[in-house]
Amino acid sequence: MSEGVKHLSDYETGTRYRATVVSSERITEESAAEEVREIVLDVDREDFAYDLGQSIGVVVPGEDSFGDHHHFRLYSVADLPERGADDRPRIKICVRRCFYVDEYSGERYPGVASNFLCDRRSGDSFLITGPFGPPFELPEDPDADLILIGSGTGIAPFRVFVKQLYRNVPERRGRVWLFHGARTGLEMIYRNDAVDDFVQYYDRDTFEAFEAFSPRPSWGERIAWDGAIRERGEQLWEMLGDPRTRVYVAGLEQMLEELDEVFAELAGSDKEWERRKAELRAGGRWVELVY
Ligand SMILES: Cc1cc2nc3c(=O)[nH]c(=O)nc-3n(C[C@H](O)[C@H](O)[C@H](O)COP(=O)(O)OP(=O)(O)OC[C@H]3O[C@@H](n4cnc5c(N)ncnc54)[C@H](O)[C@@H]3O)c2cc1C
Repeated sequence: MSEGVKHLSDYETGTRYRATVVSSERITEESAAEEVREIVLDVDREDFAYDLGQSIGVVVPGEDSFGDHHHFRLYSVADLPERGADDRPRIKICVRRCFYVDEYSGERYPGVASNFLCDRRSGDSFLITGPFGPPFELPEDPDADLILIGSGTGIAPFRVFVKQLYRNVPERRGRVWLFHGARTGLEMIYRNDAVDDFVQYYDRDTFEAFEAFSPRPSWGERIAWDGAIRERGEQLWEMLGDPRTRVYVAGLEQMLEELDEVFAELAGSDKEWERRKAELRAGGRWVELVY
């Protein structure tokens, strides 16, 4: 599934329903430059059901590039479903407050949807659609290993995926290797001092988490995946060689290029990695959720 190749205008947004904010909490530390909030929503649709890895569409007021009077954006569902007020479906999303920098003027404009969402407070409501996107499938074989590579808010669908695996799939024995990328430790979500969701799995023999940061974040340098990945290169390559292993990648699209460079090193050449990745993709063993 590469959600990145589907254009936003291809989504069916006609069926909309109301979501009411139950709470909105900042989950990056106050000292971090980036603001990411976890927003809890009660959904006015009794039969709202989503699968792991899917996103909701948010329809907010504002012009979009097609001159429409609404602005449509997608957000991954970041937790297992619960029941909220009046037994309505309750979901969580995590939203990074985004800004768009005009490449000619250098001026910084607030992103419409993310700022709208980050400014909502409990009791506010807005329209949502979906859920959308092919789900993250659990391998049928309980011994299959999973390699999860997420950066920034791309960690959100993995938070719910890992929770599901360790809570609700007791027969699983395969390893879960989580590679978690962020520009700095302060921008790491669900694994910082404010909220550390993954800490509960550290004592599981099968779970391991590895971090990757940008060496010079204030210079806009990219995340150095090579340290975390190269250090375990041999083992990773071995895991990829097992036909049961699946790799899920989620986050900003630019991470694909960064990962290609590191994996090409493990493969021995760009060409060999290209071939191998195409094979993994075709077999549904390399799955991307990028934006
Ligand atoms: C399948 C899918 C799932 C997504 N899940 C999430 C999610 O769980 N949480 C989330 O915050 N966003 C997520 N996004 C991105 C989200 O849909 C919006 O693109 C984002 O919030 C910016 O929208 P905007 O209207 O505020 O600003 P825009 O004007 O559309 O964009 C502002 C700028 O921010 C950049 N940008 C967009 N998203 C991010 C991001 N997450 N981190 C860093 N820079 C970004 C854009 O490239 C642009 O330069 C997802 C996108 C897709 C396609």
